[in-house]
This record gives sequence, C-alpha cells and structure tokens, in this order.
Amino acid sequence: MTSEASTTKKLQCNECSKSTDRQCDMNKHKKRHRRPYGCTFPRCSKTFGSKSDWKRHENSQHFQSELWRCQQPARGRLPEFCARPFFHKEEYLTHLVKEHDRSASKVEEEVEKCRIGRNGQVRFWCGFCRTILSAEGTGAEAWEMRFTHIDEHINKEGKRVDSWLCVEENKLKGERKEEKTTILRENEEVGKKRGRENESPVEMPPRPPKTPRREMRTASTTAIAPSALYSLRMERAAGDSAHICCCGSGPYLKKVYSACLACGREFCSNCSSEELACHE
Ligand SMILES: [Zn+2]
Ligand SMILES: [Zn+2]
Ligand SMILES: [Zn+2]
Ligand SMILES: [Zn+2]
Ligand SMILES: [Zn+2]
Ligand SMILES: [Zn+2]
Repeated sequence: MTSEASTTKKLQCNECSKSTDRQCDMNKHKKRHRRPYGCTFPRCSKTFGSKSDWKRHENSQHFQSELWRCQQPARGRLPEFCARPFFHKEEYLTHLVKEHDRSASKVEEEVEKCRIGRNGQVRFWCGFCRTILSAEGTGAEAWEMRFTHIDEHINKEGKRVDSWLCVEENKLKGERKEEKTTILRENEEVGKKRGRENESPVEMPPRPPKTPRREMRTASTTAIAPSALYSLRMERAAGDSAHICCCGSGPYLKKVYSACLACGREFCSNCSSEELACHE
C-alpha cells in the first residue's frame, strides 16, 4: 500500500525558497540552478537552465558558418586527426594535396564528407561525439536535429560543455576556462603580495595580449585568417537588431538570417523587430 503522506509532503529546494509537492516539478526547478546547458561556440562561457534558453542564445548570438575539418590522420600521431579547420574549400583541397600527399583528382568526395554546413545543413559538428554527423532533413529541421542530439548528451549522459571540443580551434571549452582561471589566480597572488593593509579587491589588469594561439597539431601552421574567425563568431554588437518571426520564433540576428529557422519562411512585413541594445 502506498502512503498518503509521501504524496502530500512538500518538497523544499535546498538552494532557494521554492517548494512544491511534485517531484517532477522539483527536478525541473533544480535544473535551473544547475544550468546544465552551456554555449557551444568558442569564446562564450554562458550557461543556461533550460534547453529553450540555450537554443535562443545560440540562435540569436552566434551562427555556424560553413567549414571543413581535416579528418586525415595526423602525421606520426595516429589515431589522432589532423583536425585543422578550413573556411574555404580551395584551401582545404590544397592542404590535402600538400600536407597529406593526396591526389587532387581523388579528394572530391572526401572533401564533402569533411564539410560542416552552415547552420547544420547536411552535416553538423558534435563536440561531445567529436565528429561530424549527418543531419536529416533541411532548413529548420536539420538545425533542430543538432539541438536535440546535443541535448541528449547533456540530459541522458550528463555531459557538460567543458568537455565540448570546439571544431573551430580544436580545443576543449574547458581548456579555455582553465586559461582564464590561471590569469585570475595570478592576479590573486599579486593582490596578496601588495600589502595586506589595503583590503579592497585588486583591480583586474587588462588581459595580456595573447601570444599566437597554440599551434594546430600539424606540421604546417598557417594561421586562420582573423576575418574567418570573426565571421564564425559573429557576435552581436550594440545597435544590432533581430527578427522575431510572425510564427513566434526568434530572435534571429538580422545581419545573419534572412529566413526563419523554425518555419523556413523569409521574414516578412508581419514579422517584428527587436533591438539588441547590449549583450545578454
Ligand atoms: Zn531553487
Ligand atoms: Zn554563446
Ligand atoms: Zn590535414
Ligand atoms: Zn554527439
Ligand atoms: Zn517562422
Ligand atoms: Zn513574417
């Protein structure tokens, strides 16, 4: 027999004043504190308590541009991949011929398999699987499939964004965080040495200019054009505006999107506009 008491007992959140008598509501609520979703784009460390907040963020603040990831085994480093990213097909072709001794006439098919489509069209990158996956469908459907796929890693496997491999840099999100933490710790040390009489917090010195980014794991080290990196990130700036589609979906950064990812239609006069004054 089930006890009546257990169904009427109030559940209390141990992190805030929220209470409820339904376990599933409490689980949902606690997820908001855990913020299990993290932005998967490089140089952004935002976290979110719900799938919809995370999706909204990635759709309004970033977009995935087309790129190619070299899937050739790295020289002398089997079974690791070369993993260099290319933002132009021709550059990747040249790389295959020069660095991996491939013959230009045979690489077409391979080049296509290594292509990550703009906003997940045809193929998308999963930084948890650390591979390129095929998306079914086109347009909104394909992009949605990416979110669903990543959500499963987060919800079912408990994966966190720290272990996400950024395809644009072949670096874990967590590695970036460590770099930041090191700088913070160094500052703390400086603070301690600078006289204890003054208890006020130490001002953060501006971040030192980065020395050239850690080299990709290949013999050749042509740097990625800064313009390519910029277009990858496409972060919104103050004064940018976004479309809110008449189907209710959005916001979509105007300088990036001409059609709605949810309904697939181009933005029209019934759609509205949202000013994005400052970063979230
Ligand atoms: Zn709470
Ligand atoms: Zn982000
Ligand atoms: Zn390569
Ligand atoms: Zn995956
Ligand atoms: Zn729409
Ligand atoms: Zn419309």
